[in-house]
Amino acid sequence: MIQFQNEFLTVFQSGLYQTTCTVVEANDFILVADPNWLPYEVEEIKQHVARIQGEKQLFLLFTHGDFDHIIGYRAFPGAKIIGSRGLKEHPDKQQTAEQIRQFDIDYYIDREYPIDFPEVEVVVEEDAQILSIGDAAITFYLSPGHTHDGIFTIIEPLGVWLAGDYLSDFELPFISHSAKAYQETLRKAQSILDHHKIEVLVPGHGQSTTSKEEIRRRIQLSERYLDRLIAAVQHEDTDTMDELEKQMAYPSKFTKQSHEENISIIRREY
Ligand SMILES: [Zn+2]
Repeated sequence: MIQFQNEFLTVFQSGLYQTTCTVVEANDFILVADPNWLPYEVEEIKQHVARIQGEKQLFLLFTHGDFDHIIGYRAFPGAKIIGSRGLKEHPDKQQTAEQIRQFDIDYYIDREYPIDFPEVEVVVEEDAQILSIGDAAITFYLSPGHTHDGIFTIIEPLGVWLAGDYLSDFELPFISHSAKAYQETLRKAQSILDHHKIEVLVPGHGQSTTSKEEIRRRIQLSERYLDRLIAAVQHEDTDTMDELEKQMAYPSKFTKQSHEENISIIRREY
C-alpha cells in the first residue's frame, strides 16, 4: 500500500508492523530502501521500480540489518547495495537469514527469490560521507543504538531523510544495541534537522512527515523516554519503569520483551 507520495518519492507501507519501503526517483538514479515484507508487497514495489527505472542505475539501501528490513534483498538483481560497515561485517548474517526463513515457514510463505544477507558494495564508514550522483548528493550518518549497523540517509536537493528504526510517530525506542549510542544518535538527528534542508522524513515504521515541528517532536519523544527510563533504572523506580512499559504502543509479548531488553542494556551501561 502506498503511504505517501510526491513527484520524486513513493513510500510503501507493509501490512505488518507498519514497516516502510521508500523508492526515490532522482534525475540520475532510483534508490529503493528496505523493500519488505510479504511477497505481493515486494512485487508491488518491483513493478513500481520497473515502471520508472528506464536506463537509470538502481541502488538498494538497507537502513540496518534487522531481518524485516533486508527481507527483499534478492528481489532486485543488478541493484548496487548500500549499507554501513557494520552491516557489511554483520556478525550474525546466517542467523538473520534464518529468521527470514523461519518467518516464511511459520506463515506458509513462498518467495520467487532466494533469501540471503545483503552483500554491501557501497560502504558507509563515517558521518557526513557523501555519494554524489549527477545533481544529487546522498549524505550518510552512522546511527547506532537501535542496532550497531544503522545509517541515516539524506538525499539532496530532494530533502529526503531515511531514518531507519528511529523517529517513528508511535514507536518508542527499541534499544537492542546501546542506550548511550541511541542518545548520541538522537543528538545527531537534531543536528541533521538544523543543518540539512529536510522536506520529508521517512521512519522505518509508521508515518512519513513533512513537518519540521513534527520531526522535532519525535526526537524529543525518544529523548524524554530514554531520560526517564535511565533515571528510573538508576533509582530502581519500578513504578516509572512500569508506566513507561505501558506507554509502548500495541502492548504485547514483543513490547514487553523490548522493554526488558531496554532496561537490561541501561543497567549495563549506566
Ligand atoms: Zn524494523
